[in-house]
Amino acid sequence: AGARADALVLFGITGDLAAKMVLPALYRLVRDGFPLGRIVGVSRGGRTLDDLRQHARKAVEAQGPVDDAVFAEFAGLLRLAAVDYDDPDSFQSIVAEVADRRFLAHYLAIPPDRYAETAQALAAAGLNERARLVVEKPFGRDLASARALEARLTRCFPAEEVRRVDHFLGKDAVESLLTFRAANTLIDRTLHRDAVRSVQVFGIEDLDVEGRGGFYDDTGCLRDVVQNHLLQTLAMFVMETPETNAAEDVVAERVRALRAFRTVTPEDYVRGQYEGYRDTEGVRPGSTTETYAALRLFVDTERWAGVPFCVQAGKGLAATATEIVVELRSPVPASRLTRAVADAPPDLLRLRLEPDAGVTVQLLAAHGPWPALPAPSAELVDGVAAAADFPHLTGSNVTAYERVMAAVMTGDTRRFASMRAIEECWRVVGPLLDLPDPPIPYRKGSDGPAEAARLTPGRHWYTPAP
Ligand code: NAP
Repeated sequence: AGARADALVLFGITGDLAAKMVLPALYRLVRDGFPLGRIVGVSRGGRTLDDLRQHARKAVEAQGPVDDAVFAEFAGLLRLAAVDYDDPDSFQSIVAEVADRRFLAHYLAIPPDRYAETAQALAAAGLNERARLVVEKPFGRDLASARALEARLTRCFPAEEVRRVDHFLGKDAVESLLTFRAANTLIDRTLHRDAVRSVQVFGIEDLDVEGRGGFYDDTGCLRDVVQNHLLQTLAMFVMETPETNAAEDVVAERVRALRAFRTVTPEDYVRGQYEGYRDTEGVRPGSTTETYAALRLFVDTERWAGVPFCVQAGKGLAATATEIVVELRSPVPASRLTRAVADAPPDLLRLRLEPDAGVTVQLLAAHGPWPALPAPSAELVDGVAAAADFPHLTGSNVTAYERVMAAVMTGDTRRFASMRAIEECWRVVGPLLDLPDPPIPYRKGSDGPAEAARLTPGRHWYTPAP
């Protein structure tokens, strides 16, 4: 999947993402014995190496107890390079720190409008040799801008050394979807249009956008989580089992799945905005940015043709969860017995990705023994459901950014969004971007606009398991 880097050049080390995700992940990798090599923090100046170490300490402490010996080892890897992004010559400060390194991983955790010119400055300084370039999300605002960005980046770095972060692909539970299906006939045979009535995919949050109003107002729910995270997760769910676990096979199969996603039409889309959003600092007055998106899409493969995939995402909702709910078909009403259960709740398979990744299977069971069956309706139609719960979808507690940062160093393409995948994702949501009609208001802490129910075959969303 690429050469192993022995130095990380971390642009934006003083930023929000570095503090919340990247620095704590790097600390944990050191703790777990991952061979990181030197970490050169790049900042626009006015800081000392000691400031960086203290900043890193605070970031790690914010997430739990810190082992002093591990932190000392981590801090010992840190270096500082001051650059002025408008002055490519200033990138020589990075050269000085990495001169003896075999292979570099440049990680851009800086504002996205800086990706291209930073890549250019790196190339001008010769820092594109024996090096890979990793950029954070977002990758473009639509298909055309994503392609334009890719063109600019690949003028400076070879295409096979460019990586685009989608940290959902680093999530254990998302990655485990593949093995979980492949290893369980019960699941794999069931996941087929013959048995599945619909699939609901949730990426919902109870948090509002307070503190990130300016960023969010430019972005909106569709670009923030649907085009990238949820479509990539869905691809991991619908894709056929790759021949091997090798990066080429997994990435190719994921792209094949995404290519089968039909482009969503505006009729299959409901957008909403929670009440009070426009009063948030940084949000434009009268903003029509959506904080909620629900859509229905179809996957034209032999396995999934005709099954609606109903996706719901947003902020300021009743719960925080990432979950895939598979709604199974009701039994064919070919007997009095099955006719009696026609109105009973359908079987559900819930793949809970976050929080507490696990699997819940919800089945119908009769209250009483067999003699109850000649008049079964009362018993079964009561909605008696037996739920079997498997608390673990995966056996690991490695965080997504640990996997992402490890992949930054190893180059493992499975944990990144390929350009082909990103193109397909932008195509799928293309007609929904920047629609002029105002979003439907919904109450903060609610389940979102009631209108979205029309997108599901039963006019009903199964809210994620409490
Ligand atoms: P940020 O805090 O606004 O900025 C990160 C750092 O970039 C700053 O600390 C600053 O470092 C440098 N910087 C700021 N403005 C700059 C400019 N105009 N030119 C060059 N450098 C500048 O951003 P962030 O929230 O960490 O996000 C970084 C990247 O990760 C973005 O692409 C964002 O989309 C992505 N991302 C963020 C999050 C998140 O939760 N924050 C989540 C997913 C993805 P110095 O002052 O030290 O130079």
